[in-house]
Amino acid sequence: MKLLEQRILEDGVMEGEDVLKVDSFLNHQMDVGLFAEMGKEWARLFADDHVTKILTIEASGIGIACVVAQQFGVPVLFAKKNKTKNIAGEVYSAQVESFTHGRVYDIIVSKKFLGPGDRVLLIDDFLANGAALQGLIKLVRDSGATLVGAGIAVEKAFQPGGDLIRSMGVRVESLARIKAMSSKGITFCD
Ligand code: 5GP
Repeated sequence: MKLLEQRILEDGVMEGEDVLKVDSFLNHQMDVGLFAEMGKEWARLFADDHVTKILTIEASGIGIACVVAQQFGVPVLFAKKNKTKNIAGEVYSAQVESFTHGRVYDIIVSKKFLGPGDRVLLIDDFLANGAALQGLIKLVRDSGATLVGAGIAVEKAFQPGGDLIRSMGVRVESLARIKAMSSKGITFCD
């Protein structure tokens, strides 16, 4: 999506070799007009999939997911990063290794809000190693819901997550796919 690629080139800031900061428009301060355009694009791509629920992960996926859900006219559910142990029976849970913080945490969603009748579209801001998406996929599969696919704002295609998730048979639609980034600049996949 040219609009997002252009914005990344204008306002994205590299941190080290493999982290892109987009906190002026995507995951701290948020450009809701841009989110609406992103939502329209995913609504077009998944138009025939009868999505009934958007699932994301706290915190930075939530803003994007809310705007996307408005396009689909369905609720948003966000997986919570769990701090209290064991509410067994009431929740689906999975473990996720954080790319940005390097530690493992549990994510949970209430069984009340996800079940076999749902057709779920996952939404997240970044795809790097694929751990966050793998966790969300496990929640969906455990619930018996149907996974329609994943909409990602920024996929760092030089990291393994995209190939990993696609090799699991999951449709991934990333609006900006970064081929390479260095101090010389950012290039996108065709
Ligand atoms: P993964 O689980 O695919 O390794 O990483 C995905 C999660 O890590 C995203 O939800 C996002 O919050 C965070 N993340 C991964 N790479 C980046 C990055 O380059 N920049 C930012 N701001 N967040 C990232």
